[in-house]
Parts: sequence; C-alpha cells; structure tokens
Amino acid sequence: MNSIVCFNCEKEFDAERARCPYCDAPNSTEIGRYPTLGKGWFMAIWVLFILLMIGMFVTMFSN
Ligand SMILES: [Zn+2]
Repeated sequence: MNSIVCFNCEKEFDAERARCPYCDAPNSTEIGRYPTLGKGWFMAIWVLFILLMIGMFVTMFSN
C-alpha cells in the first residue's frame, strides 16, 4: 500500500484515495502548486495554446 502526505494538512493517508480524509483536500500535489488557478484553468490554457499552434501550422502550410 502506498501512502502520501496531504499538501494541505500534512497528514499521511492512502494514495488511492481521491481526497484527504482529514481536511477533504484533493489528492494531488499539482493542484497545491496552482492554488489560485486550479488544474482546470491550467488545462484550459494548454488546450488554447495547442489550438493556437495548430492554427499557426494550418496558415503556414495553406499558402
Ligand atoms: Zn489533508
């Protein structure tokens, strides 16, 4: 069994749990690194960036 330390309350719990049983924080250190934006915003920015890159390639090769 694998246990991790909660980034919020720093208590140990089972890594297979989706949330910390003590403080209900999500089981992810990545979310802890982006507390103001969250993972949804981070992914949305990535998707926008990739779409922009695809758009640039399409305009480059359509000439
Ligand atoms: Zn916790």
